[in-house]
Amino acid sequence: MSKNTHSFQAEVAQLLHLVTHSLYSNKEIFLRELISNASDACDKLRFEALDNAALYEDAPNLEVRVAFDKKARTLSITDNGIGLSQQEAIDHLGTIAKSGTREFMSRLSGDQKADAQLIGQFGVGFYSGFIVADRIVVESRRAGLPADQGVRWSSTGTGDFEVETITRDKRGTSVILHLREDADEFLNGWKLKQVISKYSDHISLPILMEKEEWKEGEDDKGGEMVATGEWEPVNKASALWTRAKKDVTEEQYVEFYKSISHDYEAPLAWSHNRVEGSTEYTQLLYIPAKAPMDLWNRDHKGGLKLYVKRVFIMDEAEALLPSYLRFVKGVIDSADLPLNVSRELLQESRDVKAIREGSTKRVLSMLEDLAKKAVAAAAPAAESPAADGVTDVVDKKEGEQADADAAKASEDAGKYAKFYAEFGSVLKEGLGEDFANRDRIAKLLRFASTTSDAATVSLADYKARMKDGQEAIYYITADTLAAAKNSPQLEVFKKKGIEVLLMTDRVDEWALSYLTEFDGTPLQSVAKGAVDLGKLQDETEKKAAEEAAEAFKPVLEKLKASLKDKAEDVRVTTRLVDSPACLVVQEHGMSTQLARMLKQAGQ
Ligand code: ADP
Ligand code: MG
Repeated sequence: MSKNTHSFQAEVAQLLHLVTHSLYSNKEIFLRELISNASDACDKLRFEALDNAALYEDAPNLEVRVAFDKKARTLSITDNGIGLSQQEAIDHLGTIAKSGTREFMSRLSGDQKADAQLIGQFGVGFYSGFIVADRIVVESRRAGLPADQGVRWSSTGTGDFEVETITRDKRGTSVILHLREDADEFLNGWKLKQVISKYSDHISLPILMEKEEWKEGEDDKGGEMVATGEWEPVNKASALWTRAKKDVTEEQYVEFYKSISHDYEAPLAWSHNRVEGSTEYTQLLYIPAKAPMDLWNRDHKGGLKLYVKRVFIMDEAEALLPSYLRFVKGVIDSADLPLNVSRELLQESRDVKAIREGSTKRVLSMLEDLAKKAVAAAAPAAESPAADGVTDVVDKKEGEQADADAAKASEDAGKYAKFYAEFGSVLKEGLGEDFANRDRIAKLLRFASTTSDAATVSLADYKARMKDGQEAIYYITADTLAAAKNSPQLEVFKKKGIEVLLMTDRVDEWALSYLTEFDGTPLQSVAKGAVDLGKLQDETEKKAAEEAAEAFKPVLEKLKASLKDKAEDVRVTTRLVDSPACLVVQEHGMSTQLARMLKQAGQ
């Protein structure tokens, strides 16, 4: 292939323009992105080599090298991973491959300052190199291809790129950044090491840099650091989840989360455990603070990465958690699964079943901890035990300690509400999906009620407030809170001061059909059948109703006849106080809400 010039995809050109023209404080993230690509490339090689060990050629130790040349003003990141063929370089470096990048593009506002900040938080993969470089050259050879089928890709980031064939002995990729005038700081070993340990310490491969030595200048000219030719690792080079909890800082957990989730906000909580027994695995599970845009799509894949004995196997391994926990991000590293396990095999594996059950329990207990903290904050006397994801603050004077504790407590208190606002609807799907954990899920639910507009009432709270003689947990479903609150069906409950849960979430109707009772108390829709208030209805009311039914019999008969095709029955009721009439459905009938939903869906 001779030298060829290609144009970028339209979005890429737009993105490049934005990246190169926005100055912002967070320049250094380019290094995180390029090192994470290098690490991905090594993971891919390891995976392909499972079937074809020859791909390792004569270099079985995977690594990343970071080097700089002050005179040439270049910084290079070199890996000996899978490499790129010529076509792959054209396809992958000239298009927006990553879904996160596409999502990022859709969020751009056009306001340069705001957008620049967004890039800083988001990371835009390979293109982030153009933050510090005015020219990027990528030299690569794919593992398994002959040396004369290497590729050189280069671009100044202004709209097109060039591709030519080169000879490259070594497998893998070098990304060579020709640094801009204002990016001098990255021609400094100390600075690079600092950035690498901040963002890339959790990378499981060694990231090597050349050792430097101080060399005195000649003729009093002042000395400088010079490379010694000896390479040394600058990261810990052990995958974060393989380390002991005590050796990982809170900040490292957060950075690791950001790197695997493409999220820029810190997670709400995490849990890191080594599980032993008949199935052995390590789990590192995170609860994000914000729902991704496509969460509602039931096809949204799970957020867990699967490793087997530290070898990366797959992203989005949906078999590892039930669908209603698809918002959870993290890593499972199994000691038992075969390395060549496929998605299909995962579905049938007994080890996977154990991992799935164990991880489900772990997520539910993380949520229970968050919920407990919210309660503890409401009643500050109660001590809640420190949970995963919380590192105690030490070395503070007592007063400061108390302040820090109070701040932490109030932050923690808001976390469950935050979680619930983002993911509560998805969690409810669990009532129908995970029968074994239904009770635990039910305890985690929160609703608005006739005593609270905010969705903060748990079923246990409700039970604790039930009237003497009340035999059911009453609820109503409606499209909006206002509609629910003003429903005529609530009149008698209001009159008697009985709390009713107000359910306005689209999934409530469906989800609640799986929850017939809570802690021994039945749940009853106030819009279904004849409401029997049981012992709460006094004798005189009952008698009055019966008499009324008798007295109005002729009227009822007439109404029934004229509404023959529209209503199944017409009754005298005690449920209304002010309104003259209301519609209800049969005890086991489809509710009006569900009927409307189905109608909307065209059924
Ligand atoms: P992402 O890493 O999310 O896929 P990037 O923009 O960071 O998105 O990278 C785009 C693509 O370029 C990668 O998916 C990969 O195919 C290719 N690529 C980037 N860097 C390397 C590398 N060091 N080795 C091999 N392929 C690479
Ligand atoms: Mg990337």
